[in-house]
Amino acid sequence: MDVYYSDDFDLKLPPGHRFPGEKYGMLRRRLLAAGLVSPSELKASPPATDADLHRAHDPAYVASIEDGTIAPAAMRRIGFPWSLQIARRARATCGGAIAAARAALRDGIAGQLAGGTHHAHYDFGSGYCVFNDFAVAALALLSAGEAARIAIIDLDVHQGDGNAAILAGREDVFVLSVHGEKNFPFRKVASNLDVALPDGTEDEDYLRALDDALPAAFDFRPDIVLFQAGVDPLKEDRLGRLSLSQEGLYARDEMVLTACRAAGVPVSMAIGGGYADPIDASVEAYAGAYRAARAVYG
Ligand SMILES: [Zn+2]
Repeated sequence: MDVYYSDDFDLKLPPGHRFPGEKYGMLRRRLLAAGLVSPSELKASPPATDADLHRAHDPAYVASIEDGTIAPAAMRRIGFPWSLQIARRARATCGGAIAAARAALRDGIAGQLAGGTHHAHYDFGSGYCVFNDFAVAALALLSAGEAARIAIIDLDVHQGDGNAAILAGREDVFVLSVHGEKNFPFRKVASNLDVALPDGTEDEDYLRALDDALPAAFDFRPDIVLFQAGVDPLKEDRLGRLSLSQEGLYARDEMVLTACRAAGVPVSMAIGGGYADPIDASVEAYAGAYRAARAVYG
């Protein structure tokens, strides 16, 4: 299984910043230590090209991130201070998403130890998302004819408003979002199927709702699933508002991956959001997706 990563994913942020910038390297080390990913499976995320980014984003917005001319207010909406690293990281996240999707088409499953930046819109970023990796990857595969139909299964606790907006009206992409009804973004953009869950939802109700929704993504007959396996539905998450256990999240990931394997549909995974304090609980949950992948795919 090819697993893409970048040394730029770990973010050095100002003291007191509430984004856990160190979680990416922690996950990589944990996967290696647990034998869930071998060193030879780790691949460096290549930077997305301008052509890749411009399929999903306004070229002027892309350029403003690249050269740092983006307005301070637009950067505040993203939630990070601008830096050269932020620009490189956003490109690597999108390039890695394309590469991981291609690896999944070849091998059946692949992933990236970042990504799921689903709050990025056509001409602005938001909610810690600069560019939209799944929109960029989906449009790269579709434009190259590598896939004709794509399903995005977005299980981050926050609704994927950016994906839904950028890919709206396309008949070759199906977006399923299962998220917290009362959580960010407060203005949601309709996906093909949105499942909005009340605050405090626990494992059993969550898994039942997912089990009910999942067939719609496969009835679409996708050539590939892009799976946003955000772990912020975890009860320890500071920004989640749902109440899933580690076991519940593992069962969720196993359910999605089992459905992909049973349908013969390749799947590429992104880690999505995770904001537990301490962050270790989120990293453990991220590792769970790879444990589930090994259980389902060997
Ligand atoms: Zn999230």
